[in-house]
Amino acid sequence: HPSLEEVDPEIFKAIEAEKKRQFENIELIASENFTSRAVMEAQGSCLTNKYAEGYPGRRWYGGCEHVDVVEQLAIDRVKQLFGGDHVNVQPHSGSQANTAVYFSVLQPGDKILTMNLAHGGHLTHGHKANFSGRFYDVVHYGVSEKDERIDYDALAQLALDSKPKMITAGASAYPRIIDFDRMRQIADSVGAYLFVDMAHIAGLVAGGMHPNPVPVADFVTTTTHKSLRGPRGGIIICKEALAKGIDSQVFPGIQGGPLEHVIAAKAVCFHEALQPSFKGYAQQIVSNAKALAAGLIKNGYRLTSGGTDNHLMLVDLRPNGLNGKIASETLDHAGITVNKNGIPFDTEKITLGGGIRVGTPAVTTRGMKEEQMLEIADLIHRALSNKDNADEITKVRAEVRALTARYPLPG
Ligand code: PLP
Repeated sequence: HPSLEEVDPEIFKAIEAEKKRQFENIELIASENFTSRAVMEAQGSCLTNKYAEGYPGRRWYGGCEHVDVVEQLAIDRVKQLFGGDHVNVQPHSGSQANTAVYFSVLQPGDKILTMNLAHGGHLTHGHKANFSGRFYDVVHYGVSEKDERIDYDALAQLALDSKPKMITAGASAYPRIIDFDRMRQIADSVGAYLFVDMAHIAGLVAGGMHPNPVPVADFVTTTTHKSLRGPRGGIIICKEALAKGIDSQVFPGIQGGPLEHVIAAKAVCFHEALQPSFKGYAQQIVSNAKALAAGLIKNGYRLTSGGTDNHLMLVDLRPNGLNGKIASETLDHAGITVNKNGIPFDTEKITLGGGIRVGTPAVTTRGMKEEQMLEIADLIHRALSNKDNADEITKVRAEVRALTARYPLPG
């Protein structure tokens, strides 16, 4: 059979160029990572050819005996990794995992209490541009202006005042540990479901570096492609009593045939996360984040809440006379990849963003340690403080390439 290069040279070329970009740049997007060769192999396998509507042992299609093995292994490994009564590994994405959770127990118009996107929440946590904001009556909680950490007292009062049917915890841009026990108490005080979206921190939970929400939450979802270092996709973990609702909402509720090749790659990712070495990886992500935070602070940057407990930090660039858009574009020229981000209580336009979000899961996968984080903080500062000096940006980019060349990608 002819190769991809022979069949479709245009796509081949774009993939090769992306491979080069991933190799040469410093990847600091907090939600990205580099999967192993084994994960890639599973995802690139013949399982993509198979229809398997239904669940292991109860499918609508014949010939599912092998994909049943794959999907059951994925389910069993999630239970080993995080615990939980029931697991669904079929959601095509984090957003679809969250959709199935809402649909399983909420009706349009029901009230949900969720973290404000502007304070670190995700679009699927009730933003008005997302279905969750259109279908449900959304009340937002957020961080306190004083310390930029979740204001649990205010949240408890909001819950009492608004009597939500569900409280959502979890975030895309929150640099501190989330107190799930406190969230459970607050949910219990008003008889609400507790739904934890641990997408960003799942790898830290798996590696013992963040409290596990599974014992206390009714529903837990995660993406598999962030700190957990698997293929793009989502999973749901829930209490037994809620299992039927979840399974029927994933299929046939919102999806058709599951992506068994992706489920195989998820299973490989869970296997890798169950190895003792994954603990070391999770520890290093957190140590690296602390080192990067210290390096940025040393260079005169303000981090929201003063630092980080997890894999990411939010850099408020307004005191430096910058915004997120200018910073991320400048850093792009230097070969450092970040995303612009709003800051809690931002005074900058949403399209510009008051700062940037940076995270360490991807650079940690490459084998970088604290010393390289300090080097990266200095490179970020050199690029940002010379944003209009093309020669200096070119020099920074050369140093970025020299650094990444010493830390090859897996696979
Ligand atoms: N939940 C959280 C907390 C996220 O950060 C994200 C992704 O950014 C998602 C859900 C959505 O995942 P996906 O992009 O796979 O739909």
